[in-house]
Amino acid sequence: MENRLIFEGMTYYIETYGCQMNEHDSEKIAGIFEEMGITAAVEKAQADIVFFNTCCVRENAELKLYGNIGAMKNIKRKRPDMIIGVCGCMMQEDGTAVKLSKTFPFVDIVFGTNSMQDIPSMIYSAKVLKQKTVIEKRPFGNIIEDIPVKRNQPPLSYVSIMQGCNNFCSYCIVPYVRGRERSREPEDILREIRGLSCSGYKEVMLLGQNVNSYGSSTGTGFPELLERIASETGIERIRFMTSHPKDISPDLLRVMASHDNICKQLHFPVQSGSDRILELMNRRSTVARYRELVRSARELMPGCSVSTDLIVGFPGETDEDFERTMELVEDIRFDAAYMFVYSPRMGTRAAQMPDQIADDVKKQRITRLVNRQNDIVYENNLKKIGSKERILVEGISKRSQGEVSGRTDDGRMTNFAGTSDMIGSFINVRITGAKRSTLTGKIIED
Ligand code: SAM
Ligand code: SF4
Repeated sequence: MENRLIFEGMTYYIETYGCQMNEHDSEKIAGIFEEMGITAAVEKAQADIVFFNTCCVRENAELKLYGNIGAMKNIKRKRPDMIIGVCGCMMQEDGTAVKLSKTFPFVDIVFGTNSMQDIPSMIYSAKVLKQKTVIEKRPFGNIIEDIPVKRNQPPLSYVSIMQGCNNFCSYCIVPYVRGRERSREPEDILREIRGLSCSGYKEVMLLGQNVNSYGSSTGTGFPELLERIASETGIERIRFMTSHPKDISPDLLRVMASHDNICKQLHFPVQSGSDRILELMNRRSTVARYRELVRSARELMPGCSVSTDLIVGFPGETDEDFERTMELVEDIRFDAAYMFVYSPRMGTRAAQMPDQIADDVKKQRITRLVNRQNDIVYENNLKKIGSKERILVEGISKRSQGEVSGRTDDGRMTNFAGTSDMIGSFINVRITGAKRSTLTGKIIED
């Protein structure tokens, strides 16, 4: 890049909010910076460029963001050349980009989820021309291939297979801020994963808002794509998220069962145990169908872990509806669950619905749900004691010295005595203990 010299010596820091998609977008933003010759800073306050990659799925992420941007005012006063950018989903909401740049006039760059390719020119404008850039909601175009990606060190990597969502669940802002569903071409995905495998990555997490509807534009469905990734790329472990229950097919379960390198882990959000609420949520699936899917997944793949997302306090949710959710949790015994209090999002259908639930009721329900579900995770973990597991070592354990940590095939974080040279290797371990959210183990011979 000809402008490389202008940016030489500059450093960047990216603060990411929200889901894995946002984390992966931040890897792309970092890739663009690195290609410009800008390197990563260790600390936010010392960086020359600070970007906030935002989330708007729930209100609490937004509130946290405003506090953290506000805190930059004093830093920018001391370091006026610092460039501050705010990007991502929240900036894609109607009117938000302009409102944010008025509220925080010291912010230099504001843009949404589909203007990443303009980062070099926006940084140039801020640094050289001392001009602000505020890009308001732009129409969503095709997926841009070949944006450089700066990933974490091996062994784990994210690969996005599609963008956007067509489902319009009544509570969810995603279709409005990420646009309609667009799938990448299978050959582009396969090429990227082959490259990752050659560069020492052992595991890919395939990302999409609803991976099971992958391919409406490419002619290759998700089961076929998964089969090709498993057999043609040399990657040793494959996970994927998220699966919408309405689109999971027997074909998908068959492909999962027939390849050892596809992890036996299904993340498919049910959201509620009440059909009445599922209908109001526009999930287009039923609790009976969900139970049946879990049954057939477990029958085909004994030991397959099942995780979910649950929302409590959706408008109109009665005590009776909530009890159905508690019953489902009890029956399915999820291996993990992300549990949320319903958060009204402006512009979504649910935000206009009658019978919004009082905060104290939401709080009582979420506390009861989280407590019971956490106990179930612990009970499930206890059952793993004595089992032999193949762990992909991800890093040094954060909790205890002299230990490394990594995941079992079914996604459980496990700690055991080991050294940093094991990072990126598969190690066989006997599970010797269980904590509330992790396992402990000992290395065994094959
Ligand atoms: N596409 C995925 C699916 O449909 O399963 C989920 C993506 S969404 C970003 C992640 C989770 O956030 C959802 O499964 C839902 O449980 C939760 N969520 C989305 N909108 C929400 C809202 N308005 N209030 C509370 N939780 C919400
Ligand atoms: Fe949101 Fe539903 Fe799409 Fe998931 S499937 S991103 S919850 S609209």
